[in-house]
Amino acid sequence: MTDTTDDPIATSPRDVADRASRLLAALEPMHQADRIDRVRARLADAGCDALVVTKLENIRWLTGFTGSAALVVVLEDRLVFTTDGRYGEQSEHQLEAAGVEAARTVAGGEGQRQAIVDALDGIGRIGLEADDVSWSRQRRWEGDWFADAELVATEGLVDALRVVKEPGEIDRIEAACAVADAALAAVRPRLAEEPREVDFALELDFAMRRLGAQGTSFDTIVAAGPNGAMAHHQPDERRITEGDLVVLDFGALVDGYCSDMTRTIMVGDASPTQQRMLDVVAESQAAGVAEVAPGTLTGDVDRVCRDIIEAAGWGDAFMHSTGHGVGLEIHEQPAVAAKGTVTLEPGAVVTVEPGVYLPGHGGVRIEDTVVVTADGCRALTRAPKTTAVA
Ligand code: ZN
Ligand code: ZN
Repeated sequence: MTDTTDDPIATSPRDVADRASRLLAALEPMHQADRIDRVRARLADAGCDALVVTKLENIRWLTGFTGSAALVVVLEDRLVFTTDGRYGEQSEHQLEAAGVEAARTVAGGEGQRQAIVDALDGIGRIGLEADDVSWSRQRRWEGDWFADAELVATEGLVDALRVVKEPGEIDRIEAACAVADAALAAVRPRLAEEPREVDFALELDFAMRRLGAQGTSFDTIVAAGPNGAMAHHQPDERRITEGDLVVLDFGALVDGYCSDMTRTIMVGDASPTQQRMLDVVAESQAAGVAEVAPGTLTGDVDRVCRDIIEAAGWGDAFMHSTGHGVGLEIHEQPAVAAKGTVTLEPGAVVTVEPGVYLPGHGGVRIEDTVVVTADGCRALTRAPKTTAVA
């Protein structure tokens, strides 16, 4: 893991951008091969003899393959990988780079079907990823592909292994967070020039790309003034003006890994209510981050954040959960929610993002992406939480 504990928090746009490019340049290749053994070790408990992996993020995590179409079968003694002709060469290179040995078939639909059916011939219990396989596919597989086998619905078999990140994964998320920090530092002063929400969102996205992101990790949220009262408002034509609270929620994508950060900036002077919203959410968010540590239940992180907002009388105005895991997906396990029962372990990456949304006053949300460490957590998003425009 990149140790940035002693790395002072850079503030000038230039220094923040330099940090992002340093972290990007330091990324090293990852090796996926031992991840497959970790899946194998869970097959028996899941009641199956083999697993058909259909979810693309799981295929990527297991094999390094980044294309949009593939099937992977994890068997006790081998790995079977199929894709179509668009990805023949790419899959060869990516599996090799990941150190993954697989029986690879590059073919049309029928050829892939045959390869999978042959690989699973004689296997009694075939696990499927229940959250990913469509009803029609399940019916086709049950009636045709695997008519002689028992199909087992598995839940989160691979996803649960992805909760605790490897050092190389944390490095990628941290680099993505640094790119987002740098993008905000670069474009933040523009908020004083009355940009439209859509234009400011575009400038943030452009800055992230220019600073080294391969894309955005989700559609950027810029929600100013009354629009901020909607937690997931899509940027529109509205001009950001004096008196607006501006909620900025955005993330960069680096080598498939996401970052996620929200900052709320006050344009001009805050009204007493706006200032109280900013103070209460800041206190709630800091308390939530302080709660994140090994052994803590995700539900307790949510509770700590929610208690502070409820005590301020705004319990109903915090209508979403406190956070979520971040990795190859922007929202992944574990949910940091009221009923969250996952015990945090070192290496887990989660967000802490309480908010208060009041029609007429706008919204305030503050979000960091943090990694659980041996004795607490470390924020990967480092943009200052100051609410001033520049
Ligand atoms: Zn977010
Ligand atoms: Zn989030």
